[in-house]
Amino acid sequence: MSQTITQKLMLFFPKCECEKPIIYHLVKDYDLIVNVYRAKVTPEEEGYLVLDVTGTEEDIERAMDFVRTFNVTVNYTGKGVTWDERRCTHCGQCLAHCPSGALHLADPATRQVGYDESECIECLACIRICPFGTCASAF
Ligand code: SF4
Ligand code: SF4
Repeated sequence: MSQTITQKLMLFFPKCECEKPIIYHLVKDYDLIVNVYRAKVTPEEEGYLVLDVTGTEEDIERAMDFVRTFNVTVNYTGKGVTWDERRCTHCGQCLAHCPSGALHLADPATRQVGYDESECIECLACIRICPFGTCASAF
């Protein structure tokens, strides 16, 4: 019997695909337990969904093959990016682009930005956005 695993995923939806009932199909057609813990629409109106799926490896893979047919990008997460606190100017430009909340306002009073690696889903948006090279790929 196949082993049940839990996989953390980030799904990136192009603008036109955001209304698809994909979660419904993951549960109904692929027997997955789905825990959505963050959903966000970016300023460009693209959609991100951060979720845990629990099921057999085979069912998860079949489900992700299904998801990709909607032109959705699947990112398997777990390693994060590196964030060099010494380079961060706390300009806040990354905050609106971080779909998971890994980059967050750590102190609203001082506008200090913080980074929580365990929340990072490796979308790599901050590497593109940060003007000071604070974020880098961990690979
Ligand atoms: S964009 Fe870069 S410098 Fe600005 S707050 Fe984010 S990580 Fe820090
Ligand atoms: S790669 Fe950067 S923008 Fe993406 S989730 Fe991680 S910290 Fe946030």
